[in-house]
This record gives sequence, structure tokens and C-alpha cells, in this order.
Amino acid sequence: MSGFVRGPLAPSTGAQWPLSIDDVEIHGGPFGRWQRINREHSIPLGLEQMERSGAVPNLRLAAGEGEGTFQGYRFQDSDLYKQLEAVAWEQCRLPGDAYPAFIAESAALLARAQRPDGYLNSHYQMVKPDLIYQELEYSHEMYCAGHLFQAAVAAARAGCGEELLAVARRFADHLVQRFLRDGDDGIDGHPEVETALVELYRLTRERSYLELAAKLIDNRGKGLIADKGMGPLYAQDHLPVREAGTAVGHAVRQLYLEAGIVDVYLETGDESLLECSVRRWEDLVATKTAITGGHGSRHDGEAFGERYELPPDRSYNESCAAIASIHWNWRLLLATGHGRYADLIERTLYNAFAASTSADGTRFFYVNPLQRRADLFEDAYLGRRREWFACACCPPNIMRLISSLGHYVATADAEGLSVHQYMPGTIRAGGVTLDVETDYPWDGRVRFTVRETPGGAWTLKLRIPAWSPPGALTPDDNGYTRIRRDWEPGETFTIDLDLTPRLVLPHRRIDALRGCAAIERGPLVYCFEQIDQEAGLDDLALVPGTRLRAVERDLPGVGRTVLIEAEAVRLPPAPPGEPPYAATTATTATTASGDLRDHAPATATAVPYYQWDNRDGGLMRVWIPLV
Ligand SMILES: [Zn+2]
Repeated sequence: MSGFVRGPLAPSTGAQWPLSIDDVEIHGGPFGRWQRINREHSIPLGLEQMERSGAVPNLRLAAGEGEGTFQGYRFQDSDLYKQLEAVAWEQCRLPGDAYPAFIAESAALLARAQRPDGYLNSHYQMVKPDLIYQELEYSHEMYCAGHLFQAAVAAARAGCGEELLAVARRFADHLVQRFLRDGDDGIDGHPEVETALVELYRLTRERSYLELAAKLIDNRGKGLIADKGMGPLYAQDHLPVREAGTAVGHAVRQLYLEAGIVDVYLETGDESLLECSVRRWEDLVATKTAITGGHGSRHDGEAFGERYELPPDRSYNESCAAIASIHWNWRLLLATGHGRYADLIERTLYNAFAASTSADGTRFFYVNPLQRRADLFEDAYLGRRREWFACACCPPNIMRLISSLGHYVATADAEGLSVHQYMPGTIRAGGVTLDVETDYPWDGRVRFTVRETPGGAWTLKLRIPAWSPPGALTPDDNGYTRIRRDWEPGETFTIDLDLTPRLVLPHRRIDALRGCAAIERGPLVYCFEQIDQEAGLDDLALVPGTRLRAVERDLPGVGRTVLIEAEAVRLPPAPPGEPPYAATTATTATTASGDLRDHAPATATAVPYYQWDNRDGGLMRVWIPLV
């Protein structure tokens, strides 16, 4: 149906068909800039870390080469696999000589490290050979395998992956033999291999890979993990997937599992899988999603919290969870064609995900909270981005998404072309070449020019974001405005999305945010950094109904931005030692801040959340009190 796709996903069915990475060029804007920085700065840094962090030396040890001992975590191999995937998508985007050489060199090393029976995991081969597949609840063996399969698919689709694909298939065949044919009922404590096996099936048409993915999903909730490892909730083994009503446990695990569930639906048509995943999506969006699109309210277990447990300061919002959410939503969008999934992709992309990386592409957040207090004490980095991590799941994951971002911008279907994300560039599909000119997200005007068309009528579908008043552009039930015409070459169509800044209030059940507001403009969520304020950030409160003024700036360390100025008051600084609680005789709810007229007027200045922490390490908050 979708034919050959040079991108992460090539499902056999679905409401929308994905495009190849090299059919969508992003020419500018924040993401065009990021793709350039990813290639010039982030990926070279990642490649250097493959040696330094032990990922490649560990595999040399497994191959019987080199000296030393195993370094890092039991899932250290996965860092290399994600890095290989990033490089492969980069090769699709802008072919060169260096990347195929790195892929070939890595594939040769992996082939030498791989056991004759196909098994491959440097940690278990070197450190715990007697415990292979014996501690799946936390071993990450299948998780690592999944990232290998995704890297191999990427390299194959980039045209430079023959040897890597052979390594991946030997490992996949080994898993099939053990966990499908021999009847072993294990599941990995960290889902990821499910979605990867489906994609390997899509590439190779080897049906046993799909069957194994489906079996691993059906095996959840059978008590295979029980009280081992971090327990059944943490690893989504508490209930069968068709019965679980809400996202629980480790956020990245839940979200990768959901991606795999929708993938298996797309290949088998098992509606019960789509239904249960959509049910959890609706619950998640209503009760467990940060305003930035971030997921995971708790540091403890990197986990989802209870419904409406969304603390700004202690929220976890791991960068990998943002990526996994985009993966899941992309599959739901392809399966259903519904724009609400593209809406959430946009929210996550511009906020929870974009905040993960510094403006220069050399530092990364693992955790993306919505507030930084003055006395953060957790580690030596004081809550700032770092160059790398001992557990480095996030940086190469970020790189593979940015390299493949073109894949997530637009799709085709029998009627024509759908544009989901607005970025300046060129989209090619089915004989149509469409140029997109825009200064989004700074400006709401997006102009489409049909450069080439195969002739005859076709429909251009444009997503009208849920945050935008539709105006003259009436969206259909899926959230898209449809323009069906006999398009002529050179013909244009322009939309104007309303970027008036918005004051946003939290649901009354989110106790941690009560009495606060946040600011959004277009797809961007804003935050307040101390460096932009004329008073102490902790002593500023917004005036309810404040006018919000957008101001364009070029900030050192940040680059181009649009700030929002809001009317605020400066509260008197709290005297040191003031008791945290005080009895009141008031019969109505009041706050300690008292009457608005008692306080000096001030301006509170907000910057897009994704651009925070590029100047100093000062206070930050997304949610700010209302007086
Ligand atoms: Zn991570």
C-alpha cells in the first residue's frame, strides 16, 4: 500500500501512508536548524561517546578483541544501536561517505561479537553468561535486540545495511526459536522489541517476527514478571494489555509497549489492540500528561503517577518518554488519520522533546521538569543539561528522532496529501511537489505552493491545531481543513493560524498547580526564567486576565525567540523563617498574598520552554501563581 518507505515506519495498512525521510526536506525554522546542529555537533559527540562510554569497547571484548572489563550498564549495547540508527537516517537525509563506513565497521564488529547461535549482548556474554534469558525482568536483552533491529532496518532503508541486517536477523531468528517455536513464555521487563520486531517483519516479510511481537504483547499480564525485578506495575505486567485502563509504571516502557501494540494492530487488524491503546491514550491525555506533552510524574521508578498527579517541580518527563510518545502517536495517526494525535505530537515536539537539547546541540536533559528551584541538590549539575550520562538512553534517542524528523511531517492517502506539522521545506509524494514557506512557530502564516502535480484533482489536507480558532478554515471530523482542486503548477494556498498568546489554567483536580497559570502561544508552552525578570521570580504573581504581549528578540545563547510580557505584581519577599502554615478565620478561600492593590505592579517575561537553561542556571517555572 505505502510501498517502499525510507523512514522508521512502513506499515502495510492504515488510514495514512508515511513518506520517506528524503521526500520531506526541512529548510529552516527551529527544526531545520536543529537538524543541522544535530549533524554538525550532536552526532559527532555521540560517536565519540561510543568509545568513551564503553559501548564499542564492550563489544570488542565480546568479540575476543581488546583488553579490559565490561563498562557501564547491562543495556550499554543499545546506545550504539540508537547511534547507528541516527546515522542511518542521517544517511537517508543527506548521503555522504562517513556514515556508511561507520555502519559497516560497527556491523563487522557486531558480527564478530555475535555468538554462532545468533545471541548478542556484550554484558551477558562477558559478565553473566550463565544467566542469559534467566533474568528477563531487568536484563534488557530483548530491549537491546529491539534497538539493534531498528538500527538494521534504518541502515537497510538507507541502502547501507546488508551486514547489519544479517546480524539483526540472526538475533531475531534466535529469539523466534526460543520464545515462539520452543514455547518459552518470557517477556522483557523493558518493552521495545515488540515495535522493532514488527518493523523487521515489514522490511523482511518474515512472518515469525510479527508473530513473536504479537505473542510478547499477549504475554503481558500473565504474571511472568510477578514480584521479580521492579515488580509487575513498573513493567506493565499487572494486567493483560486489553484490560489495562490506564498508563502505569515506568513511562518509557508503557509508551514503547503502546507503539508495539498499535504496530501489531496495523499488521493483523486485531481491533481489540487498537481499542485498548486508544482507551489508555484518552485517559493519559486527560489525566497524566504535562502541559509540555511530557510523561512521567515521578522520579521514583521514572514512572507515571496517579491521575492528576502532575507536580511541576518533581515531574520527571524523561526525554525518552517524549520520544516514545511521539512514536506511539505517529502510529495512531497512521492507523486512524485523526489529527488529535498530530496535535499531541506537535505539543510534545515543540516542548517536552525540544527542551531536551541545548541550543548548540551539545548538552542534553534526561529529566524535563516544569520548575527549577533555588536549592536543587540532587547532583553536581544542579538540574542543568549535561554532555552525557552514565545511563545515556536519551542523547542518541534524541539524535535518531531529529535525523528522521522529515518522516513525521506529512503523509499521503488515496485522496492526496496531508500536512501534519508546519515547517518550511519541500514535500514530495505521488508526483506532487509542495513547497512550504513559513516562519512558524514565530508567525502563523503558512503558504503552500504546488510546484509539480501529476494532474487531475487531489486534496490537500492541512491540520488545524486544536489550540487555533478555526476561523474560515473549517476542519473536518479529524481536525483537517480539506482543499480539493485540479491544482495547477505554481498555484498557492495560504493559512493563517492565530498565534495570539493564551493564558492557560490547570484542571481543578491537579492539586499541585492550583492557583497558577501558564502561557502558550501557537504550539509553544512558555516558562519564566529568573534572568528575564525585574524582581525575584518567586515573588512574582500574574494579574488574572493580564494582557499578554509578544515581543520578538534575539537573545545571546538562545538565538531568535518571541518573548511574552505579562502584567504581574511584585509580592513582598517572604520574611526568613516565616511559618509555612497559618490559621485563618476567613470564611472564603484567600491566599497569603492579600489584596492586589497592595502590591507594586511589575512585568513578568516568559520565554519558550524549549529554550530554557541556555543562559544561566537560575530559577525557572512554567506555572506561575495568579494573585
Ligand atoms: Zn532516556
